[in-house]
Amino acid sequence: MIKIKVEDLIYKYPDGTQALNGVNIDVVKGEFIAVLGANGSGKTTLLKHFNGLLKPASGLVVLDNIELNEFNSGDVFRKVGMVFQDPNDQLIAPTVEEDVAFGPTNLNLSYDEIVSRVNNALELVKMKEFAKKAIHALSYGQSKRICIAGILAMEPEILILDEPTSGLDPEGVKSVMKILNDLNKEKGITIIHATNSVDLVPFHMDRVAIMDKGIIAQEGTPQEVFTDSKKLEGLKLELPQIAQLMEALRGKEKFPIDSLPLTIGQARQELSHLINTEDNALVSPEIS
Ligand code: ADP
Repeated sequence: MIKIKVEDLIYKYPDGTQALNGVNIDVVKGEFIAVLGANGSGKTTLLKHFNGLLKPASGLVVLDNIELNEFNSGDVFRKVGMVFQDPNDQLIAPTVEEDVAFGPTNLNLSYDEIVSRVNNALELVKMKEFAKKAIHALSYGQSKRICIAGILAMEPEILILDEPTSGLDPEGVKSVMKILNDLNKEKGITIIHATNSVDLVPFHMDRVAIMDKGIIAQEGTPQEVFTDSKKLEGLKLELPQIAQLMEALRGKEKFPIDSLPLTIGQARQELSHLINTEDNALVSPEIS
C-alpha cells in the first residue's frame, strides 16, 4: 500500500533557486527508504514537502490517497513526523521531559496520556534516565535522540529524518540506526531517511532513491543501485567502502564475483567461498 505518492514535484525557493525539478516517488507503507544524495541535491527540500512544510510550485504530494493540501496541518503533523538535521532547530523546552511533552500537549491529550507517551518515547530512544536533564546539558548525540523522542511522542505513522546520524561518533551512529531499525521492524513505522552516507544504506534500508539536481536519478534496492562506481560518480557519490574493495578485486582471476557484496558480512561470505581455508580471519564470526 502506497503511503506517500509524489508526482512531478517542482519547487523554487523565493530567491529563484529551483531545488526540485520534477520528483516522482512512491513510499510504501512499512518500508525503510533512504533518500541518498550529495549536498545540495534536494533531499531536505523534498522531505519538507512530505509534511507540508513547503508547498509545491507544481505537482502533487498525496498522503494515504488524499492530496496533502486537503489535510489540515495538525492532521499531517500527527501522521508524518519530521526530525530536523540540527537539534537546535527542534529542541525548544528547558528540560528533556518538557520538550518531549511539547507535541502531545498540543494534541490536547489527557495528562496521563501525555506522561505515558513521554515515558514510552524516552524508553524507545534509551534516554529515560535523562528525563529531568536540562536540554542545554545534553551531548550532541543525546540531543539527536531527544529530537527523535519528541517526534515519537506524537505517535506518527511515518517518520522522516534528515541526516539523523551526521556529526555522531560510530557508537552514536550505531545506536541511532538500531533505534530506527527497531521502530521500523517492530512498530511498523514507515521511515524515510535522508543521508549522504552510502555505507549506512545496505545495512539498514530496503530501498534507496538517489537524488541529483532536484530529481530522483536512480531508485531500487541497494543491490540494484550500487552496482558499479562509474554509475555513482556522476551522481557525486561512491560505492560503500567494502564494495569499492570488492569491485577492485572483481574480475581478477581468483575473484570471480557476480554481484557486488555491499557489507562486510556479505563480503566475508563471498570470500569464504573463494578462499579455501577454515581458520582464516575472513571467515571468523567476529567480523560481521
Ligand atoms: P540537500 O538536502 O540535498 O543538501 P537542499 O534541499 O538543502 O539539498 O538544497 C537543494 C538546493 O536548494 C540547493 O541548491 C540549495 O542551495 C537550495 N536551497 C536550500 N534551501 C534554500 C533556501 N532557503 N533558499 C534558497 N535556496 C535554498
